[in-house]
Amino acid sequence: MKVIVTGGAGFIGSAVVRHIIEQTDDYVLVLDSLTYAGNLTSLKDVCDNPRFSFTRTDITDKQAVVEQFTKFQPDIVMHLAAESHVDRSIDGPAEFIQTNIIGTFTLLEAARDFYNKLSDDKQAQFRFHHISTDEVYGDLEGTTDLFTEETPYAPSSPYSASKASSDHLVRAWHRTYGLPVVITNCSNNYGPYHFPEKLIPLTILNALAGKALPIYGNGQQIRDWLYVEDHARALYLVATTAQFGETYNIGGNNERKNIEVVETICSILDKRIINKPNDIKSFSELMSFVKDRPGHDARYAIDASKITKDLNWQPQETFETGIEKTVDWYLANKDWWQSVLDGSYTGESLGLDSQN
Ligand code: NAD
Repeated sequence: MKVIVTGGAGFIGSAVVRHIIEQTDDYVLVLDSLTYAGNLTSLKDVCDNPRFSFTRTDITDKQAVVEQFTKFQPDIVMHLAAESHVDRSIDGPAEFIQTNIIGTFTLLEAARDFYNKLSDDKQAQFRFHHISTDEVYGDLEGTTDLFTEETPYAPSSPYSASKASSDHLVRAWHRTYGLPVVITNCSNNYGPYHFPEKLIPLTILNALAGKALPIYGNGQQIRDWLYVEDHARALYLVATTAQFGETYNIGGNNERKNIEVVETICSILDKRIINKPNDIKSFSELMSFVKDRPGHDARYAIDASKITKDLNWQPQETFETGIEKTVDWYLANKDWWQSVLDGSYTGESLGLDSQN
């Protein structure tokens, strides 16, 4: 099979690409514009494989996207390209509207043109898989409820509102134009190659540098955490086997308070690092409470029973095993994160002081 992965140079996209190249015989074309979050070194393990190819293409550029579809002739499109960082969406929502809404619209139109020209056999195989977030469902504050596939949308941030819009567009293109789509909504991912503006890599790297570990508000916000390789496996399963028009929630069954996440990382690092920076005895001494994010959702939690029942998917990592693997990956892959921190991967230095 031939699979286009948009956003394949990003955190989850690169895990999906590694999964497909390493675990299947499929061909992959990564379509990515390489924003600050796109990093080709995240694909170093697969980039020499003859089944892998890359194009620097912006999903808002319809002509360029159509050209790539025509040349590559995909059976499956896995759409992960997005602006993904909530704090950035609060500071500057325009790019989120452009990429997440206009970009998804552009891709849907390119996919529709392409699909309509396919033979019946090829049409029967074609799928457009839209990858989205549980943040579209809003906030579960003060309840013990879980998000199901039927939970009404109530996004809080410009990021989640832009992802909710894109989900609606994808469903409409299925219902109105008959485009064979599947949608997944997943909880917070963590693991290797995670850009260090997000909570887990930011905490690890700030700790190693002896810097403050910022925690929003009182740190009581709850997220469900999924190891990125478990997500990649689920995505490929959905893309290749789910019924058209279906939606699946994907989660790790690992609800943790943000403060617990930071404490867990500190205790792993305490065991791994004997000579700690700044004469501290424990990395937890670096924890520092900062002003809360505006509109910050208090709790997200996923009911992933439908994907387990229909497609027999389950996460392989618990939070405890996944977070140890993640910390160890950052300890062993300084070259990767050093080039991100000093900006040499894009030629531009980044001020990395936010999270999640
Ligand atoms: P990321 O920010 O790490 O990567 C996004 C990728 O998209 C980058 O490689 C970037 O260069 C590319 N991109 C951005 N704008 C583009 C454009 N206009 N044209 C082409 N490429 C463009 O994001 P991620 O964390 O890997 O998330 C991937 C997808 O999964 C997103 O759609 C996100 O909403 C969704 N998601 C993420 C999480 C999470 O915890 N990270 C959870 C659930 C869903």
